[in-house]
Amino acid sequence: MTQRKVRVRFAPSPTGALHIGGVRTALYNYLFARHHGGELILRIEDTDSTRFVPGAEEYIAESFEWLGIPFDESPQKGGKYGPYRQSERRDIYRKYAAQLLENGKAYIAFDTPEELEAKRKEIPNFQYDAQTRGEMRNSLSLGEEETRRRIENGEKYVVRFKVEPGEEVHVHDLIRGDVVINSTVLDDKVLYKSADDLPTYHLANIVDDHLMEVSHVIRGEEWLPSAPLHVLLYRALGWEGTMPEFAHLPLLLKPDGKGKLSKRDGDRMGFPVFPLAWTDPKTGEQSLGFRERGYLPDAVVNFLALLGWNPGDDREILSREELCDLFDLGRCNKSGAKFDFKKCIWVNHEYILKMSNAEAARLLAPELEAEGIHEPMERVERVAGLMKGRVDFIKELVPLCRFFFVAPDSYDEKTRLKRWKEYSARQMQELKEVLAGLDDFSMENQEKAVMEWIESKEYKTGDVMNAFRLALVGQGIGPHMFEITDVLGKEETLARLQKAIDTLG
Ligand code: GLU
Repeated sequence: MTQRKVRVRFAPSPTGALHIGGVRTALYNYLFARHHGGELILRIEDTDSTRFVPGAEEYIAESFEWLGIPFDESPQKGGKYGPYRQSERRDIYRKYAAQLLENGKAYIAFDTPEELEAKRKEIPNFQYDAQTRGEMRNSLSLGEEETRRRIENGEKYVVRFKVEPGEEVHVHDLIRGDVVINSTVLDDKVLYKSADDLPTYHLANIVDDHLMEVSHVIRGEEWLPSAPLHVLLYRALGWEGTMPEFAHLPLLLKPDGKGKLSKRDGDRMGFPVFPLAWTDPKTGEQSLGFRERGYLPDAVVNFLALLGWNPGDDREILSREELCDLFDLGRCNKSGAKFDFKKCIWVNHEYILKMSNAEAARLLAPELEAEGIHEPMERVERVAGLMKGRVDFIKELVPLCRFFFVAPDSYDEKTRLKRWKEYSARQMQELKEVLAGLDDFSMENQEKAVMEWIESKEYKTGDVMNAFRLALVGQGIGPHMFEITDVLGKEETLARLQKAIDTLG
């Protein structure tokens, strides 16, 4: 068999913020497409008008822009298989609904929601299928004439798929193997509704996968129950030969136990489950976003890639190129993946560690500016380089780095009690003179001169350095003292020493 061109799609419904599980699905499609030199489509499945949420499509587009996951074809970008919004493809679906009716693979049904509800009450586990369809109000039970009359009278109807019972339906899943289901358990799903002239998810999804020449359907496990119906629909439409391969990804589980990861877990444990912050336009409910929390897009991608897949060894930090290179559906897990958000924080830390100082400075500068600290990039870069290893998020650098740019206006009381002795002012005065006497204020030279002075006076290095730190930083934290003075420069160092002597006495 000749290999088909790889074309995959991410097909979200714009019903609100995109859950992180959806992001993982899109990412796996992206990695799969890149690995095989194929194409990635973004298709907006907006046929359920009752669930449509304004702003959701824009949110989706912005999320992937932030994550650096580009689509080859999308509503924004276009493409030769468009339109890529299902609400703009009504004519197409209408035609296939008609084809199924003509071939006897589907039928028209008039049952109102109230009637269906009554049936459900009357018969426990009621299902609209081969057993029950005869008792319902549809073209099979009413006959052609009556059906036509009702439609002409403007009665609303739906088109239902006619599932033939007693057949073993095989879904070949690239992650799960052969999944077999007996068609008797399937119900006659609604494919189309005349009321809004729109198809349901099942029909639109199949028609578009076919017309867009999708080769692989990679999606969340929650869609596995729909797959047998999709196989039957492909067949009923005469497209069996171009049926895509299926891969259903494992569920994302709560960090602390069994069960599906939910927004509530995030709220409870303090981590986001959405890529970007989101305010629901209807309820006003707010959700945290990875972006606003300060996660780096590359770190999120790396973390998500390993939720349900592994590279075959125990590597946990992989570049995008490595991910594209190694990604393979064969190494996806069947069982659910625990959403270990602490791991995500660790990955973020690792990405900050390995990023260049210039890049760290580029991200830190706006955070500093927001605090009213405007500094030349060169200095920010220097400081970022010294401090970035200490944090999980760039934002956290702001309070830690503040003293480099702004002289302390007070001294931490606890540190003062412990570190500032009665002789500290005298020692700092001497230290100030030693430093003032240096023409070469390089780190090495400072260190040499200060150490010689300490030795000659037989002072305790710890005593001197602790007081020195308190004077320059205002607290007992920070990197090596001479790295600090090197960034501060001679004038500022001497000024801070003087101020500490005057203030702390
Ligand atoms: N519209 C469905 C969703 O919201 C698509 C499922 C699929 O990929 O077939 O996830």
